[in-house]
Amino acid sequence: MPVMRRTVRIASPLNEGKLEAVASFLTEYNRCVNHFIERYWSERNFSDTYVDSTHMPPDGHFALTARLVQCAGKQALQVVKSQRMKPKRRRTMPRFTALTAELDGRFWCLADEHNSFEWVKVQSGFTFHLPFSKTAMWNKWTEKGFTISRSMRLLMPGGTLFMEFVFEKERPPEKTTGSVEGIDLGYVDAVTCSDGQVAGIDMNDFISSFGRRERNTHEQVKQKVFGELKNIDLSGVRALAIEDLRSVKSRTRGMFQRAHNRRLSHWLYARAVQWLEQRCEEQGIALMRVSPWKTSQFCRLCGNRDRRSRSGKVFRCIHCGHTDDADMNAAQNIRLLGLAGVYSLRSLPGRFIGDTRL
Ligand SMILES: [Zn+2]
Repeated sequence: MPVMRRTVRIASPLNEGKLEAVASFLTEYNRCVNHFIERYWSERNFSDTYVDSTHMPPDGHFALTARLVQCAGKQALQVVKSQRMKPKRRRTMPRFTALTAELDGRFWCLADEHNSFEWVKVQSGFTFHLPFSKTAMWNKWTEKGFTISRSMRLLMPGGTLFMEFVFEKERPPEKTTGSVEGIDLGYVDAVTCSDGQVAGIDMNDFISSFGRRERNTHEQVKQKVFGELKNIDLSGVRALAIEDLRSVKSRTRGMFQRAHNRRLSHWLYARAVQWLEQRCEEQGIALMRVSPWKTSQFCRLCGNRDRRSRSGKVFRCIHCGHTDDADMNAAQNIRLLGLAGVYSLRSLPGRFIGDTRL
């Protein structure tokens, strides 16, 4: 059964002594993963085989239980396998540098101490009690019917200990009825859906009204954007097309590009796409990524595509005079690609030209 996964990262407030103890555990684990990487590398072992006894270091070589050593071996295999995709001469032995440990259900459990804090108990030769508080995201996924999975990750970027929990839920079947729509993530109106829904009008002004205190700005813009996104109703939609910007190096138009710095724009855009992906997954909507090529300059009435047809907020085809809101025009063209089931306007079949919807 296909499963939906959501990750929740929570910091554990540890005092200095405890933090040091966890750090030395993670350092030992890291050493152990690198030990296995060297073994696999010297054998050119890129296979999927599990850790067998010939790969195990002698007892007591690492201050970890044999079971956890095996766990580190599995993690090392993943790291080494990542090199398999590269051409032979470009393969280099990877190093595992992060202070990160992937722990399955044998090594940790939630301990209920009837306290204001929750606890994670980690057992693997070392025993740690790691306090944490359930976050809004934890509660959100729980309320949506997700259950906590048995794998957990400990990580320590920048000297703070985080626990990453994974929540899972069976994925609903894809809808068979409903419309096909396209969504444009632009910078004037944040979100334009081809069925006429628009969210985030005046985002530009909203963002411009902030000063340079970036941390606050991020948080407020994020809240505003996600508040607006939630107003988009996808209940009648069976398939949704969005622009595939993963391969585009510098975007010529896009969310809040002019209003704010590039970092915010990329960050926010990625978060908005992730939000849409998750929403589609939960509602059984097929998500299609299509090429952004010419989607803002294409006229769906006559098939002409010319950069002169697009001027700021207005689309006016220089060929046939067809006029539309620029973002809506883009959303409609994205939808056309979804309807036609093609990636790019280059390969749009002629019968899809002449669409007069909206
Ligand atoms: Zn035209």
